[in-house]
Amino acid sequence: MMNRSFRRYCHFLVNVDNFCLPRNRSLTIDKVFGLGNKTYEHYNKVAIYVDKRLEELGANRVFEAGMGDDDANIEDDFITWKDRFWPAVCDHFGIEGSGEEVLMRQYRLLEQPDVQPDRIYKGEIARLHSMQNQRPPFDAKNPFLAPIRVNKELHKGGGRSCMHIELDIEGSKMRYDAGDHAALYPINDTYLVNKLGELCNAEMDTVFSLINTDTDSSKKHPFPCPTTYRTALTHYLEITAIPRTHILKELAEYCSDDKDKEFLREMASITPEGKKKYQKWIQDACRNIVHILEDVKSCKPPIDHVCELLPRLQPRYYSISSSAKLHPTNVHITAVLVQYETPTGRINNGVATTYLKNKTVEGEEPPRVPVFIRKSQFRLPNKPEIPVIMVGPGTGLAPFRGFIQERQFLRDEGKTVGDTVLYFGCRKRSQDFIYQEELEKYVQSGVLNLKTAFSRDQAEKEYVSHLLEKDEDLIWDILGERKGHFYICGDAKNMAVDVRNILVRIISKKGNMSETDAQQYLKKMETQKRYSADVWS
Ligand code: FAD
Ligand code: NAP
Repeated sequence: MMNRSFRRYCHFLVNVDNFCLPRNRSLTIDKVFGLGNKTYEHYNKVAIYVDKRLEELGANRVFEAGMGDDDANIEDDFITWKDRFWPAVCDHFGIEGSGEEVLMRQYRLLEQPDVQPDRIYKGEIARLHSMQNQRPPFDAKNPFLAPIRVNKELHKGGGRSCMHIELDIEGSKMRYDAGDHAALYPINDTYLVNKLGELCNAEMDTVFSLINTDTDSSKKHPFPCPTTYRTALTHYLEITAIPRTHILKELAEYCSDDKDKEFLREMASITPEGKKKYQKWIQDACRNIVHILEDVKSCKPPIDHVCELLPRLQPRYYSISSSAKLHPTNVHITAVLVQYETPTGRINNGVATTYLKNKTVEGEEPPRVPVFIRKSQFRLPNKPEIPVIMVGPGTGLAPFRGFIQERQFLRDEGKTVGDTVLYFGCRKRSQDFIYQEELEKYVQSGVLNLKTAFSRDQAEKEYVSHLLEKDEDLIWDILGERKGHFYICGDAKNMAVDVRNILVRIISKKGNMSETDAQQYLKKMETQKRYSADVWS
């Protein structure tokens, strides 16, 4: 059995984001686990770098670095690695492990019925009353409550929904450029919040704080406290995420039925059967904490422990789909609604997109949402005469709408604007060809060269990647001969990988290079900011 502070010390070493070396080199041990995603080119680069650098600085590698892949099953990667890692640590320090895991809480509960109402957090991200007394500068800790001026449907059929939303940032002093991201703090669905409260037999309006038992920690609370359970579950906690195995392990302790306890424990274990069950029953079935408590009936955890276990609700990012040159006080976003049926017959709704969908602009007072702007490197070339190629199927079109608006604006000012080629793809021309009329107007005005692929309008799928292959001469002319810029936005998992591979093939063929040289060519384009990707999965 590990003692607690030793465990925490090791945890600190595992967390590569907060890495530093202890002063006493002889004590330095090297243990790194990276949190990565294979769909990204720089997969686990930080972890690999830290591991190598520690070795160079004289650290002892107690155990090989672990590589977590969020595209597959990062939880599985971690627990498999951890299972081999702890014995190696014990061995290194001469500690005898009992093999037993002791579950310990990081926070203690303090109920505070007597707190003044105006001292209770009601959803603020950091500063108390920041939502009532809005003061710039606005950022991730102090979001601006932006009125929604427009919220309209872009799809014309097909059963899915894609929203065009205009956020008013007048008076906020927030600035943006085409290519930046708007970040939004959503709130959880009230039905799910109440359901979770019910399943835990919670008094939802109890005022409480969770206080870190590690008095040295700079993080005193897991979220702003004091607050109520209702507020914590609504504003601060990710209640619809798929729970990691450590949560199941903790939940198992609150099962009155031994079978339920064993079931949760098994799914949290590293046995092949346990992992298989976790994959099938949790991941494939997309069960969140509410679904788990509904289906494992004897599990009745105290709500404060649930609040400790759940991850913090994160802001969602959206590629801004307008140009500040045209809309300096309005930020446009283009968001596709996340909604899907799970194998258990439940409908899962995306937190932020459902929240936005319900923000209808009807009454006198516009709905408001907490937002901030995140600067990005995704930028048009400084010189408008430089030609650009943009690849953005589906919502991947978002930042390019801003780019095109900008190029049109500059053209209207009399500037010479280079070729602006857009590859757009969607399922059906008649259903999800978003911003069709606008794009066609830009084509008519002569600023845009639009190439479209409608994947489901014919028997054989046609994708933007197929169009690129056909246009190899145009692509090479713009990138190879005229040193133009290439942009890609949208799905990281398949589309972006396919498009990059095709680009390498085109560069190799038209530029008479080996595949390795073509890869290098693309890398150089990246460092010159002539190849940029804004992708997500
Ligand atoms: P969540 O509650 O976060 O649920 C999403 C999760 O549900 C997914 O991660 C996945 O695990 C799961 N899921 C989704 N569909 C299924 C399914 N069919 N089956 C099983 N599980 C599923 N989105 C846009 O629409 N437009 C943009 O312009 C845009 N730009 C982005 C830019 C960046 C830099 C990043 C990082 C993301 C961007 N996104 C964009 C994605 C956006 O940030 C959100 O992730 C998205 O809107 C979903 O948020 P949500 O809260 O509604 O869904
Ligand atoms: P979409 O409608 O799913 O896709 C746009 C077009 O791209 C469709 O015609 C699609 O064809 C096509 N396509 C599929 N695979 C491709 C490939 N490998 N290369 C080129 N084109 C391909 O787009 P969207 O709804 O806007 O979403 C864009 C992406 O972001 C999706 O991959 C989606 O999964 C992801 N996304 C994730 C979240 C999230 O919550 N994490 C939220 C929103 C979007 P077919 O469909 O006919 O194959």
